[in-house]
Amino acid sequence: MADPEDKNEENVDGKFYVDSQCIDCDLCRETAPNNFTRSDDEGYSYLFKQPENEEETAQCLEAMEGCPVEAIGDDGDT
Ligand code: SF4
Repeated sequence: MADPEDKNEENVDGKFYVDSQCIDCDLCRETAPNNFTRSDDEGYSYLFKQPENEEETAQCLEAMEGCPVEAIGDDGDT
């Protein structure tokens, strides 16, 4: 389970985030490309934009459920 106290620092503030468990597998960036991107310096994913409509929210939830190491959380600050 993702830890809101362990967010990757690039995440924008808000509900969804990626924490330090990310193994850079690319699934979330493929599933929700409007919201997740890669830090090329650090080799992990982060939220560059919180979802702004139902489609993006659904994609973020799908990414969260599909993340193999449960590094995505939706219990960040709102
Ligand atoms: S799906 Fe999970 S492990 Fe894979 S890149 Fe996204 S946050 Fe990282």
